[in-house]
Amino acid sequence: MTRYSISLVNGDGIGPDLANSGTILLNKISDFSDIKFDIVGVEAGDNALAKYNKALPDFSFDIIKKSEVCLKAPVGEHAADVILVLRRYFDLYANIRPAKSYPNVKSLHPSVDLVIVRENTEDVYLGWEFPIGDDAVVGIRLTTAEASRKIAEYAFEEAVRRGVKNGQKKVVCVHKSNVMRLGDTMFSRISKDVAKKYPDVEFSESYVDACAMNLIRNPEKFDVILTTNLFGDILSDEAAQVVGGLGLAPAGNIGKKFAIFEPVHGAAFDIATKNIANPSSMFLSIKMMFEWLADKNKNNDQATLMDLGRKIENTLMSLLNENIKTIDMGGKMPTDDFTKTFVSRLVL
Ligand code: ATP
Repeated sequence: MTRYSISLVNGDGIGPDLANSGTILLNKISDFSDIKFDIVGVEAGDNALAKYNKALPDFSFDIIKKSEVCLKAPVGEHAADVILVLRRYFDLYANIRPAKSYPNVKSLHPSVDLVIVRENTEDVYLGWEFPIGDDAVVGIRLTTAEASRKIAEYAFEEAVRRGVKNGQKKVVCVHKSNVMRLGDTMFSRISKDVAKKYPDVEFSESYVDACAMNLIRNPEKFDVILTTNLFGDILSDEAAQVVGGLGLAPAGNIGKKFAIFEPVHGAAFDIATKNIANPSSMFLSIKMMFEWLADKNKNNDQATLMDLGRKIENTLMSLLNENIKTIDMGGKMPTDDFTKTFVSRLVL
């Protein structure tokens, strides 16, 4: 029996609903399998700012530092004061955002299975903007060779991992080197350099505008999309919509020693407290967390954790096949009932 300590950020808007659904799922797994979770709640975000005058109070930060992995429900207006700080502190250099077609969900294409590998520490997310007088602002976009290489290597390793799964190994490096002639040309050059070490992985490049178009036109042709921070943020919301919406979109922020898993979407204040949020993005984030824990702890639990991840996804598919869905997926089920049904149908 192994215990894993998980820090769980409650978040804002629909965050607490999703954190609650995630807790119910993890507790069921703890109760019925050899893998146990110690879940410690973390206050962070708009509510924490109002209460403690800091979006990520020191005591919350400490809980996250002491945990093995963090699961994060969406945070509201002050998301940047939480997730950007955490990404930088733990050097979570890879943001992994899969987009996959699921049955019975309205989508643009029935057989999409791609993943966006987004550089997570640089670009315009450093917030380096400076006013020039009252009527102009200059912004700085950082690109380093080191971060470009790390994310390119992650993308090719991801293609290899996925290749074993779906028999297709492709990386497309997405940039805009015709405009950002220095930063993105370097990003592209490094990706080509890394590609040489992976002759089995088909490599190509695309400008971001063409990629955005092709994600609508033929999304099934993509496998791994390697890109910079801002482009990855935008393309991943687009990819989520192509396969049926943000309610099904999980993400991982991954470093060498620590990781944070979270839904792609934000706090969705328009549907907060209505009990209609889709918790699938949280369930699929937990699946990704299990895969990461399996990879990190190459011990006896590896097979069990991978199996648990598969079971989560299979349970979701079987519910969708029976048209058991939340409103955003075209169904009627409220969040709490969907969670209860999901957890009761998860056979361990
Ligand atoms: P951010 O700027 O942080 O991305 P946002 O409010 O602009 O946040 P999101 O919260 O990401 O956008 O979501 C956009 C819309 O998608 C929401 O307003 C909501 O209607 C829908 N949505 C997002 N997540 C879910 C979910 N889990 N279940 C159902 N609908 C969702």
